Amino acid sequence: MTKHRRPLPILSALLLCIAFSANAQEKVLNLYSARHYQTDEALYANFTKQTGIKINRKEAKEDELLEIIRNEGANSPADIFLTVDAARLAKADEMGLFAPVKSRLLEERLPANLRSADWFAFSTRARVIVMNKDMVKAEDVQNYEDLANPRLKGKVCSRSGAHPYNISLMAALIAHLGEAQAEVWARGVVANFARQPKGGDTDQIKSVAAGECGVTISNSYYLARLLRSEKAEDRRLMSQVVIVWPNQKSYGTHINISGGGMLKTAPNKESAVKFLEYLVTDEAQRYFADGNNEWPAVASVVVKNPALESMGKFKADTLPISTLSKNAVTAQRIYDRAGWK
Ligand code: FE
Repeated sequence: MTKHRRPLPILSALLLCIAFSANAQEKVLNLYSARHYQTDEALYANFTKQTGIKINRKEAKEDELLEIIRNEGANSPADIFLTVDAARLAKADEMGLFAPVKSRLLEERLPANLRSADWFAFSTRARVIVMNKDMVKAEDVQNYEDLANPRLKGKVCSRSGAHPYNISLMAALIAHLGEAQAEVWARGVVANFARQPKGGDTDQIKSVAAGECGVTISNSYYLARLLRSEKAEDRRLMSQVVIVWPNQKSYGTHINISGGGMLKTAPNKESAVKFLEYLVTDEAQRYFADGNNEWPAVASVVVKNPALESMGKFKADTLPISTLSKNAVTAQRIYDRAGWK
């Protein structure tokens, strides 16, 4: 009986060998992304077309993905983590998830303020002031600092101080004003609240349009999204508000990013670096930025986005995004002390 069984293990070992070598030849990239837009299909398909590397995508909400990667630990199949906002990248950094990437191409294409040693920005967004001109005067809301002016008592609406967008804004203010002044600012804004913080940026825009509050802050792409919307009510909303580019006479409007990096535990490091480098090519930059009405991180790339163009040109803050990450923890403490819930 044993005589008959012998050839079988040899055969299966052989099959296993073939299977392994086929696997070794098929290059893959495991991408964990918090971004999902219409332009993604073209963005990823072009990478596969150019490199032969197949992309496996896992998509989830920003904070969920971070949890998944944390739970998977050393066995995580993730090669690349893409997310939005410097505060979230700071969290990933703090968890020690990223591996440093040294790439001439990434260094040449991305401005120094939009990259760190281990993560890179691929698009930018601005945090702007949105006002209702029947309720506040434009000259009273030209700067972030103005939102703390007692003149605006009962007129300011905001989302939670625990949200990354506001944490990053505070991180920038810490860099520009110093910690003590930044806290005075936060207390001033809280004293001006029309209501307790609730909802997202779009909810704040709606409240300003409806006259529930006179002024708020919002990321630029939410405004562009409403401007480009196919729904007449969204576009009507935008006719009821005015966009102000804050701090044009000082340090410029606060900028944040969408970005990501290679994970320390990445099983496909070579593919991961290729993918990061692909994201700074002209074509990928266009898809990446336009998918969410953002600006390309590579300065020479032009995107035709009528909604963004209609919002006009502005002076952007050139503070290194890595500074925002560094100040993120202090920023959260300031909001907590100021009662910006
Ligand atoms: Fe957002």
